[in-house]
Amino acid sequence: MKAAVYEGPRTVTVKDVPDAKIEHPCDIIVKITTTNICGSDLHMYEGRTSFESGRTLGHENMGQVVEVGSAVRKVQVGDYVVLPFNIACGFCKQCEQGLTNYCLTMQPEPALAGAAYGFADMGPYQGGQAELLRVPYGDFNALRLGEDAVERQTDYVMLADIFPTGYHATEMAHVKPGDQTIVFGAGPVGLMATYSALLKGAGRVWTADHQPDRLRKAEEIGAIPINTSEQNPAEVVKEATLGLGADNGCECVGYQAHDPQDHHEDASLTLNGLIDSVRFTGDIGVVGVFLPEDPGGAEAQGELEAQGKVPIDFGMMWFKGQRMGTGQAPVKKYNRALRDLIAGGKAKPSFVVSHELSLDEAPTAYEHFDARDEGWTKVVLHPNGHGNGHKR
Ligand SMILES: [Zn+2]
Ligand SMILES: [Zn+2]
Repeated sequence: MKAAVYEGPRTVTVKDVPDAKIEHPCDIIVKITTTNICGSDLHMYEGRTSFESGRTLGHENMGQVVEVGSAVRKVQVGDYVVLPFNIACGFCKQCEQGLTNYCLTMQPEPALAGAAYGFADMGPYQGGQAELLRVPYGDFNALRLGEDAVERQTDYVMLADIFPTGYHATEMAHVKPGDQTIVFGAGPVGLMATYSALLKGAGRVWTADHQPDRLRKAEEIGAIPINTSEQNPAEVVKEATLGLGADNGCECVGYQAHDPQDHHEDASLTLNGLIDSVRFTGDIGVVGVFLPEDPGGAEAQGELEAQGKVPIDFGMMWFKGQRMGTGQAPVKKYNRALRDLIAGGKAKPSFVVSHELSLDEAPTAYEHFDARDEGWTKVVLHPNGHGNGHKR
């Protein structure tokens, strides 16, 4: 089968690899119809992680079941399914509590938790930017889709990661109807956090970024855009709230946040921006990726950052009595409800998609997405056809 394989820093090649196959009676094999390139794929693409050369990327996957293991009971051949990027067992201490983002048994390293397809430090699993994907514990992990699966595939595939992840940011920030919410980052996840806050009935949502094309998308769905190369988000928000700040905020950028003026990386930029922008006792949800170590960061940022240490304004955060929630999203906690919002015509997360391409075009797509080229907000790949090859 064909797959998009990582072959070293900024090198992805589409090549033949062995077919995905059933390795355990609970596995299913999914023929991938729809798979996304994610901002977090870029951390691996840029060679700043321990991701192994020769491994297939891709953790945002959807497709049709073509084979089921002998112990699979619910999922059937022919079903269209979307797969949470978290691979979870369903029976460990964490999964029992719904914390499938930190499953203990799918992660082979005893001191770690959490597993994902095609992701550094999250187990040995291959990614889905390929014709076929092996899905462990298919009955638990696959979310089945209805008859509109193909028609709405660019909406449903967002249930693998970015829609639940954006939603999770708003959950950790406790966004409620009427709230005034600030979102740092208008990449795909920031746009999904913005969208989720609006779906929850937030009164006003500001979205801060320095990319005009991304800000336009935020504005299209009803947010107030803040261009960080022209304005300081905290000042804008305070100005609009009697100096108090937003009720809550979401971090959707991560450790590679960079200064819009001189482009140097500063992992503390968005966190300190949020501590400043959010009012006393407000909540902050951080879903942007931060890592325990970032050897590549020494050059970009400094020795402290290379050790995963981020200098944040903790004194101010404590003084304001703010709370911060962190970490990857437990996708299964939200994906069923968000699926039904899509099925009911109440949510259409495909508004983030800028390109639908074939798998063969993955290397070019990585280049453009990594360069943050104008107009490349979200790339959807179709490994088994259906790509129209054009910009939407
Ligand atoms: Zn992702
Ligand atoms: Zn588990």
